[in-house]
Amino acid sequence: FESRLMTVNDMAAETLDGVRVTLRANIEKPDEIALVKQYRAAGVGLYRTEFLFLSSTKVPTEEQQYVAYREIVAGLAPDPVTIRTLDVGGDKPLPGDPGLIGPEANPFLGFRAIRMCLENPVMFKDQLRAILRASAHGKVEIMYPMISGPEELDRANALLDEAKAELKQRGQAFDAKVRVGTMIEIPSAAIAGDVLAEHSDFFSIGTNDLIQYLLAIDRGNSRIAHLYDPTHPAVVRTLKQIVDTGHARGLKVSVCGEMAGDALYAPLLLGLGVDELSLTPTLVPSVRYLIRAMKMSDAKKLAAEALKQKDAKKTYAMVEAFYNDRM
Ligand code: PEP
Ligand code: MG
Repeated sequence: FESRLMTVNDMAAETLDGVRVTLRANIEKPDEIALVKQYRAAGVGLYRTEFLFLSSTKVPTEEQQYVAYREIVAGLAPDPVTIRTLDVGGDKPLPGDPGLIGPEANPFLGFRAIRMCLENPVMFKDQLRAILRASAHGKVEIMYPMISGPEELDRANALLDEAKAELKQRGQAFDAKVRVGTMIEIPSAAIAGDVLAEHSDFFSIGTNDLIQYLLAIDRGNSRIAHLYDPTHPAVVRTLKQIVDTGHARGLKVSVCGEMAGDALYAPLLLGLGVDELSLTPTLVPSVRYLIRAMKMSDAKKLAAEALKQKDAKKTYAMVEAFYNDRM
């Protein structure tokens, strides 16, 4: 099976009816560049920058971050690398917590990701300057995690403007036109997507958190794991709403949650109109294989049926049959 998938490794992720799909990779560390290249991903759609912060009890300096980001950006140039700002807290506690988060009764509803960064602007701007400096060595996009509404997005963008001004003052190079996207992974961001779109260059849907928060299911709790269902009608409808809202304002909409790397769900996402998938590098071959075995017109029909379906089990059965007929 594995070797059959690899027969298409060097071929475009193009459907039988001629639609090309961009497949990018999710990575966490510079040494994963080799995997991105091996599986012919078109750059990185989600670089989780937590690694440097989780591997030490000290917050990394701007310089340390710049060196790590530059290695990835330069190593993959001219392909783009979407660098996500720090997303700690919740399922990613900081080791030894250097006073940033502290114990919380509800870490998943707590002081995590962009919320924590906005309250620590010195640390956040160190990261933003490091990312901006890396943008001088290739193609960089910036993306904010866990945005819940326009106020957070505006505050993050204001700090980004400050970071740019500081680099100008220092005479350090960066891409002045760097694109800035918003992760849609909190239900409020999905519902108020039109407002966020006004100040975003693109959307990237984090289905892991989005499903967790939509269905109120802790994704790490095995007793309720069976309720974590990507085919739940609320999930399918919400995905459609995000895609339509982004497209109505001319934004590219990608998916970087695990759903994008599951060949079972990729046709549903593409049929809903998602422009780009970002997935674990080793999963690229299976999604590429399936895309080459399907028609986009059939994926659109699948999505239209899923949107009408009231029973998640029936939606799952449809999605599974679509997959089995082609793999
Ligand atoms: C997500 O929530 O889908 C996502 C991609 O972010 P992470 O898994 O890093 O929380
Ligand atoms: Mg997330």
